[in-house]
Amino acid sequence: MRERSKSLWLIASSREVIKVSRREIVICIGCPMGCRVTVTLGKDGSVTTLKGAECRQGQKYVLNELKNPLRTLTATVRTVDEDFPLLPVRSSRPVPKTLLQPIMRETARIRIKTPVQAGDVVARNVQGSKADLLATTDWSGPGGEG
Ligand code: SF4
Repeated sequence: MRERSKSLWLIASSREVIKVSRREIVICIGCPMGCRVTVTLGKDGSVTTLKGAECRQGQKYVLNELKNPLRTLTATVRTVDEDFPLLPVRSSRPVPKTLLQPIMRETARIRIKTPVQAGDVVARNVQGSKADLLATTDWSGPGGEG
């Protein structure tokens, strides 16, 4: 979880603004302590200070969260069954946050016509993420018992 705090700016001329440093606050979700970690980034985007993480695992989480935040996607896809119109799915692995919307758009176009079992692949390598969409429940097909 990430909050953006006030950035520091240096006005170099009337038309040009150079960012000199940026401070980010990230709430670590590695354990129930939920440490509030303050990270200062230099103008090249590198981490200059990291304060508030109580352990190395949290530091790693925060650095990943800044560099390449990942999320496991959960959603539903449509079926052709009026009695069971939506099949819950999840990504087989965490995907970059930037791909969540494109994957959701792809997910919205999927329509399942044949029975599936929990764990079956519904779509492979969605948006080139190397993650598959997996059914998280059984569906016995149109006219089945759900
Ligand atoms: S930094 Fe460590 S102790 Fe703090 S919330 Fe993250 S995992 Fe837990």
